[in-house]
Amino acid sequence: MRIGSGFDIHKLVPGRPLMLGGVEIPYHLGLLGHSDADVLVHAFCDALLGAAGLGDIGVHFPDTDNTYKDIYSIELLADSYKMVREEGYSLVNMDATIMAQAPKLIPHIEKMKHKIAGALKVKTGRINIKATTYEGLGEIGKEEAISAQCVVLLD
Ligand code: MG
Repeated sequence: MRIGSGFDIHKLVPGRPLMLGGVEIPYHLGLLGHSDADVLVHAFCDALLGAAGLGDIGVHFPDTDNTYKDIYSIELLADSYKMVREEGYSLVNMDATIMAQAPKLIPHIEKMKHKIAGALKVKTGRINIKATTYEGLGEIGKEEAISAQCVVLLD
C-alpha cells in the first residue's frame, strides 16, 4: 500500500472556461494556466505520482512544453495513472476537496466523479470529491483563486 497527497491552486480570471474535475462549469470566471488549469485533476495527478514515487506533474508535463498548452487535464490524469499502473500499482481510492467561494459545485460533483472514473477505468465508488467555500477569507474567499487537495491510496 502506498499513500500520496496533492495540492494545486490557480488564479480565477475573466475570459477562461472554468474546468474542474474534467467538467466545464458555467461561470463568468475561469482558471488561468498553461493547461486548462483544472486544479482538482492536477492535485489528483500529483497525489497519484507521489504515491508511486514518480515525482510530480511538473516533472512529467512541464508548463514550458507547448504540447501541454490548453490541454484537457483529464489526458494528463490518464497518462499519470498509466505510469502508476506500469509501476504495478492500482487505485484503492482517492478523496479530494475543492476550495472555491463560488460557484456552487455540489450540482457538478457527480459528473466530475463519472468523468474521472471513466478516464481511469475505475469504479466511481473509488472517487470521492468534496467542495467547501473559504468563508470569504483570503484570495480564495475573494474569488481570486480556486484550490484543491487530494489524497490517494494505491495497492
Ligand atoms: Mg496546476
